[in-house]
Amino acid sequence: MSSEPRFRVAICGAGIGGLTAALALSRSPDIEVQVYEGAQKLAELGAGIGLFSRPWELIRKLGLDAELLKYTEIKPVEGPVTAFNYRKSDTPEGIEFYTLVTKGNLMTFHRPDFQNALLQNMPRSTRIHCSKRLRSYIQRPTGPIELYFEDGTTATCDILIGADGLKSAVRRSMYTEKARIAQSEQKMREAMECEASIEPVWSGTNAYRALIPAERLSARYPGHRVFTQPTQYLGKDGYVIAYPIAKGKFINFVAFKSRHDLEGTKFNGPWVSPSDSSEVTSMFRTWEPEVQALMDCIERPLRWSIHILRPLSTYVHGRVALIGDAAHASPPHQGSGAGQAIEDAFVLATLLTHPSTTRHNLSRALSIFDHVRRPVAHDVHERNRLNGQYFTFHHTSPSEELSLSPEERLRRLKELGETFTKNWEWAWMTSAEPVVREALQLLVQS
Ligand SMILES: Cc1cc2nc3c(=O)[nH]c(=O)nc-3n(C[C@H](O)[C@H](O)[C@H](O)COP(=O)(O)OP(=O)(O)OC[C@H]3O[C@@H](n4cnc5c(N)ncnc54)[C@H](O)[C@@H]3O)c2cc1C
Repeated sequence: MSSEPRFRVAICGAGIGGLTAALALSRSPDIEVQVYEGAQKLAELGAGIGLFSRPWELIRKLGLDAELLKYTEIKPVEGPVTAFNYRKSDTPEGIEFYTLVTKGNLMTFHRPDFQNALLQNMPRSTRIHCSKRLRSYIQRPTGPIELYFEDGTTATCDILIGADGLKSAVRRSMYTEKARIAQSEQKMREAMECEASIEPVWSGTNAYRALIPAERLSARYPGHRVFTQPTQYLGKDGYVIAYPIAKGKFINFVAFKSRHDLEGTKFNGPWVSPSDSSEVTSMFRTWEPEVQALMDCIERPLRWSIHILRPLSTYVHGRVALIGDAAHASPPHQGSGAGQAIEDAFVLATLLTHPSTTRHNLSRALSIFDHVRRPVAHDVHERNRLNGQYFTFHHTSPSEELSLSPEERLRRLKELGETFTKNWEWAWMTSAEPVVREALQLLVQS
C-alpha cells in the first residue's frame, strides 16, 4: 500500500473468526489490516470442524471453497443429504431411531487444514504478528485506538476487532469501560450487568475430544459405521459424536457429559486439560458395543469444560467490535460456533469495505453490524442450548421410559428427532444473505 490507507484495522486473535475477517477485509487494498495473535505460532487444535450450508455459502463467496476442497473427499451438493445417524445408545442394545437429512452436506475438516486454507489465500499485505497477546486498549473520542500488549509493546489502529475467543481481552476492556461509564452516570444496575458480561460461565457440560486413527478403529471393530456415516450416539446425560475427517485418515470423536442443573456455575479446575481415557470410558461403561469400540481407541483425550457467555447487550463500543466466541460463545451442540464467527466476519467486512465507510464514520458501520448480527447469534445460542438438552434426554425420566412398550419408545424417539431437526434446520435451510442485505440497506440509508 503506497498511499495513506482508508483506515487501519487491528484484529486481535487469529482463530477462524479473526483470519476470516482479515481475509474478507484484505479484498479492499486501501484498508490496512494487522492481525495480533497471542500464541507463539499459528496452530489450530488437532480436531474436526463441520460447516453446514449457511456458512459454506459464505466460504464460497470468499473464494475459499476450492482450496478447502483439496482437504476433503466430500463433494458439496445442494440437495438433500444424510448428515447424521441417530442411535439411542445408553444400553447394551442400541436403537437406531432417526436419520438427519440436511439441505447440502455438512462439510467436515481437520482444523489445521481449515486454517491452512485461510492462510494460503491471505494476501502478503495482511500482516500477522504472533506472540502479541493483547492486555487492554484505550479508545478516546477521537484519535487512534491504543493497543497494549503483554510483552510491553504498543500499537495503534482506527478500528479494533476483538476475535480473541472465549476469554477475550477486548471484551474485558470494552465491558470494564462500559461499567465505568455506567457507574459515573449512577446507572448501578447497568454497571453490574456490564461487569457480569466479562467472565464466561460453565455450561454444565464437559466435552472429551480425540482423533482416532482409522486403522486403529478398523482393527478393533472392522466396518464400524462411523467410517461411512457420521453418527450421534445419544443417552441420558451424555452423547457421543463421531465422523471421518482428513480424507478418512481419522475419526473425529467428541463425548459430552452434562449436568444441566450446573449451567451458569463456576467450574473448579482447568477449562482445558489432558484427561485419561479411563475417565471417559467409565462414564459410558453401560453403552452399546459400537460406543465401547470408539472409547477403546482413544488415547489421552482433551477434556474441555464448555464455557459460554451470557448474551451480551452489545458487541460494539465506538470503534471496537467483538466477533466470534469473544461476542457469543455458545454451547457446541449444533456445530455452529465457527460458522457464526465466519458470518460475523463476513457481515462486518461487507460493511467496512463498502465505499461509503471511511475513517470518520466507522462507528456507524459497527452499530449496524451489532444491530443485524446480535439477534441472530443470540437465537443460535439458545438453539444450541436446547439441542444439548434434546441430545441428552434431559426431559425424559428413565423410570417412565422403562414402562414404555418398544413401539411407543421408538415413536417418542422419532418425535425427538423431528424436534431437534426443527430447532436446528436454520443451519442448512436459511442463508446469511438477508442479514448482509439488511446491513447494506441500513448503511446506504444512514
Ligand atoms: C467440542 C467442540 C466442538 C465444536 N465443533 C464445531 C463445529 O463442528 N463447527 C463449528 O462451526 N463450530 C464448532 N465449535 C465451535 C468453534 O470451535 C468456535 O466457536 C470457534 O473456533 C470460534 O472461533 P473464534 O475465532 O471466535 O475463536 P478462537 O478459535 O478461540 O480463536 C481465538 C484466537 O485468539 C487468540 N487470543 C486469545 N486471547 C488473545 C489475546 N489476548 N491477544 C491476542 N490473541 C488472543 C487465541 O490464541 C486464538 O488464536 C466447537 C466447539 C467445541 C468446544
